[in-house]
Amino acid sequence: MAVSRDQVLGALAGVRIGDELLAASGRLSEIAVDPSGRVSFAISAGPHEAAMLEPVRAAAEAAIKALPGAGPVFVMLTADRPVGAAPARPGPAAAARVAAAPPRAQAVPGVKRIVAVASGKGGVGKSTLSCNLALALRLQGLSVGLLDADIYGPSAPKLFGLTGKPRLIGERMLEPLDGFGVKVMSIGFLVDENSAMIWRGPMVTSAIQQLLREVAWGELDVLIVDMPPGTGDAQLTMAQSAPLTGAVVVSTPQDLALIDARRGVAMFQKVEIPILGIVENMATFVCPHCGTESHIFGHGGARREAEKLGVPFLGEIPLQMEIRETSDAGRPVVVTEPGTAHARAFMDVAQRLWTGLQADAGRRAAPRIVIE
Ligand code: ADP
Repeated sequence: MAVSRDQVLGALAGVRIGDELLAASGRLSEIAVDPSGRVSFAISAGPHEAAMLEPVRAAAEAAIKALPGAGPVFVMLTADRPVGAAPARPGPAAAARVAAAPPRAQAVPGVKRIVAVASGKGGVGKSTLSCNLALALRLQGLSVGLLDADIYGPSAPKLFGLTGKPRLIGERMLEPLDGFGVKVMSIGFLVDENSAMIWRGPMVTSAIQQLLREVAWGELDVLIVDMPPGTGDAQLTMAQSAPLTGAVVVSTPQDLALIDARRGVAMFQKVEIPILGIVENMATFVCPHCGTESHIFGHGGARREAEKLGVPFLGEIPLQMEIRETSDAGRPVVVTEPGTAHARAFMDVAQRLWTGLQADAGRRAAPRIVIE
């Protein structure tokens, strides 16, 4: 039988941070126990407390694992504010954090390139693009992974039609699930939908770190990271703490969405992560009945924005009923309708992204000539 929350709290009674009880420190998230017995929760940590709190995290995990009947235990440090604190806003605080930025994050062994797919706000098709982009790169013969870091609303399980739970390899490593040949990991595989609600607000960054580093990705040419939407502190910390090769920003064509996309570009530029390009989603609507094209949200705004900002434009994805339907059904267009114009649109974006990645690597490898 699965352990209860009270048993978990009982097991934590012996875990301390210095003189203070962990359970009384205000750092503990809600404790989720899913029907299979998996226990997951987070301990919030300030930006510089991770090393100090790692032994506490390990002690908490060990104490719960020692309970009779305990299933897998997933305890994370989250570099976010404690439960109940005021929500963070981007602005001076975020800027100050940039100024105090730690050196570039450590690489993930075996993973050659990590590409963040980001958006200035939710609902613009970031997850849909991440999924189809990963699959399009896979169809080009690359080994590809997808990390669903959209911890507020994980959608990779639905988009890839995956319902299983990742297997635990050894003590801590999780095996990603296979989605049409792409290695997929999502917090949605680990906690059920209701528990996932707990992750809103106070958690985030180090949960993502753990998904990045405690998953057996193996050898990957590219790992696509579906970022949490927006440009707040959580996204900024994430951009700094993951060893990103570069970022793709997705936007719809409306002015308002483009203002948010511009913020997204600025956020990555501040932390010196190359912008690999902007993608315009929901660009042209082709009527399924008469074939007439209309531009419901306007057209070409993202291309002009990319030109203005001096970053590559990777292409347009049409607003298409089949994209929505196949996404909802876990049958992504790139693999289930590969010959269609909308699948080709994703393939073209993937092709330009890959070309850009190689050019970028070439530029980095080139010797720098310094004239004094
Ligand atoms: P985000 O990750 O930015 O929140 P999603 O990828 O979840 O956005 O997309 C939001 C909704 O829009 C989903 O229902 C998705 O199926 C739909 N959608 C995304 N892109 C398109 C498109 N090009 N055509 C039609 N529907 C789309």
